[in-house]
Amino acid sequence: MWIMESTKLLHAIIETAIDGIITIDNRGRIESMNPSALKIFGYDAEELMGRNISVLMPEPDKTRHDGYLLHYQDTGEKKIIGKGREVRGLRKDGTQFPFRLAVSEVQYQDRVIYTGFIHDLSKEKEAEEFLKKYTIELEKLVENRTKSLKKMLHELERAKEEANISLEKEKYLNRMKSRFVSMASHEFRTPLSSMQLSAVLIEKYLQTSDTVQVLKHLHKIKTAIGSLNGILNDFLSLEKLEAGIVSPHYDVFDIIKFSEELTEEMQLITKEDQIIIYQHAGSENNVNLDQNLLRNCLMNLLSNAIKYSGEHTLIEFSTEINEDQYVLSVKDNGIGIPKEDQSGLFQPFFRAHNTGNIPGTGLGLNIVQRYVNLMDGKIHFESNSSQGTEFTLSFQKSSVNNTPI
Ligand code: ATP
Ligand code: MG
Repeated sequence: MWIMESTKLLHAIIETAIDGIITIDNRGRIESMNPSALKIFGYDAEELMGRNISVLMPEPDKTRHDGYLLHYQDTGEKKIIGKGREVRGLRKDGTQFPFRLAVSEVQYQDRVIYTGFIHDLSKEKEAEEFLKKYTIELEKLVENRTKSLKKMLHELERAKEEANISLEKEKYLNRMKSRFVSMASHEFRTPLSSMQLSAVLIEKYLQTSDTVQVLKHLHKIKTAIGSLNGILNDFLSLEKLEAGIVSPHYDVFDIIKFSEELTEEMQLITKEDQIIIYQHAGSENNVNLDQNLLRNCLMNLLSNAIKYSGEHTLIEFSTEINEDQYVLSVKDNGIGIPKEDQSGLFQPFFRAHNTGNIPGTGLGLNIVQRYVNLMDGKIHFESNSSQGTEFTLSFQKSSVNNTPI
C-alpha cells in the first residue's frame, strides 16, 4: 500500500515537474517523456515513443549521438552522465533552443536506462541576449555621446583659440593705430605748417604780383601734400596687409623700361646734385612679378636712399636677370644703419637712432618686406656708416606663383 502510494506520488511529481524528463534505453530509444518534455520539444507522446533520442538534437550531435552512447558503453568514460551541460535542442517545428541537460544512469530490472533532465534556458538566454544587446547599445550610446562631447569640446577650444587670435590681432591693430595717431600728429605738423607758411606768403606775393615766389610756394605746398599723402598711403597699405586682402597679380613686363621710368620719376625728388644711376645686367628683359607691388617696394628703397644720403652723391639702382633669379638692388653712400638698430629695421614704426630730424614714419621697410614676401621673394641689406647702404630684393624665377615666361 505504502509502495503504491509512493509510486503514485513519484508519478505525480514527474507528471507535474516544470523541467522535462526523458528516459531512453541503452540504444538511445525514447521510452518515456513527461508532459513538460513533450511541451518543450512540441511533440505528442505517440510521435516519439521508441524513436532515437537524436531526433531531438540538431547537428552535429544528431549524427554523433549513437557514437557517444557506444563510446560510453565501451569505455565507461563519462562525457555527460552524472554531469550537467548546456546543449541545444531541436523542436518539432525545426527551431532550436538552449537547455541545461543532466543525465543519470539507472539500473532498472537488469537493464540500463538513462534519464535526462531538461531545463529550458530559452528565457534566460533571451534575457541574457537582451541584456548583452542592451549593454552593447548602451555602450554605443555612451561612446557616441563621448564622441560628440569631445567634438563639442574640441570645437569650443577652437572657437576659443580663434577668438584669442582675433583678439590679439585686434589688440595689435589698436596698438598700431594709436602709434599711427601719435606718429601722424608729429609727422603731419611739419608739412602742415610749411603749407600754412606758403599760403600766407602766396597771399603776400600776390599783392606785389611776384609770380616766381607764388609758384615756388605753390610747389612747396604740392610737395607737402605729397608727403602727407605718402604717409596716409603707407598706413592704408599696412591696414590692407593686416586684413590679408593684398594678393599679388603677376604679369610679364619689361624690367628695363619699368626701371627707367621709375628712375626718372624718383630723380624729380632727389636732393641737389644727387644722381640715380640705373643699370641692368643679363640678356633677358622680361620679369613675371606684380608691377604695383614691385614699384611700391623700389620707390620706398629709392626714397630712403635719397632721404638718408647727402647732396652730390650717387645712388646706384640695378636690376639683373640671371639663370634662376631676378635681383634688384638700391645702393647709396649715405648715413648707414647703426649695427645695433639693424635687427629691428623691418618692424613697423621702427627708425634708427641716427635719423636725426630727417622725416619718416618707419613704415616703409615693413611694407616692402611684406610685399616682397607676398611675391615669395627675399629682402637683404648691407650697411655701414662709412660706405652707405645697399638693399637687395631677389625672386626665384620658378617660384610657385610665377607662371614661366
Ligand atoms: P617712411 O615710412 O616714411 O619710409 P622711414 O624711412 O623712417 O619712414 P623705413 O623706410 O621703414 O622708414 O626705414 C626704417 C629705418 O631704416 C629708417 O628710419 C632709417 O633709420 C633706416 N633706413 C632705411 N633705409 C636707409 C638707408 N638707405 N640709409 C640709412 N638708413 C636707412
Ligand atoms: Mg622710408
